[in-house]
Amino acid sequence: MPFPDCQSRKAMHSNTEQKPCPTRDAGNRLRAAGLRPTRQRVALAGLLFSKGDRHLTAEELHGEAVIANVPVSLATVYNTLHQFTDAGMLRVLAIESSKTYFDTNVSDHQHFYLEGENKVMDIPDGDMSVNGLPQLPEGMEIAHIDVVIRLRRKRS
Ligand SMILES: [Zn+2]
Repeated sequence: MPFPDCQSRKAMHSNTEQKPCPTRDAGNRLRAAGLRPTRQRVALAGLLFSKGDRHLTAEELHGEAVIANVPVSLATVYNTLHQFTDAGMLRVLAIESSKTYFDTNVSDHQHFYLEGENKVMDIPDGDMSVNGLPQLPEGMEIAHIDVVIRLRRKRS
């Protein structure tokens, strides 16, 4: 297990506030999303959601799992990320055709993408608005607007 089991007998029976615990939090998050908290899902959700808002690929999460001694294949990581996405826990970012980024922040927000460094950053809330939208085809509504502003370092 990548994280120690935080649910000690003492903690369960006391009324004191519980300390942050990636394993317990991941289990709760999975149950809330309607997913069975299997060992692998708990371990991967623990890695994904214990470090704030992030954007990462299946390969990157697999690398973290290897470091954390979570025995899991890249294919399983990929499948699990898509299960999390279907359950509304993650959002897929279509930035590069060769790479799929998964965003732990599922709220409506836009992104900077640093070309050449494969880095995705959130655009701060309220820093951007989208104007001049086209007329939508009949019977359609906007599900989501994805804006990616691609950056490169200034040449000095
Ligand atoms: Zn984001």
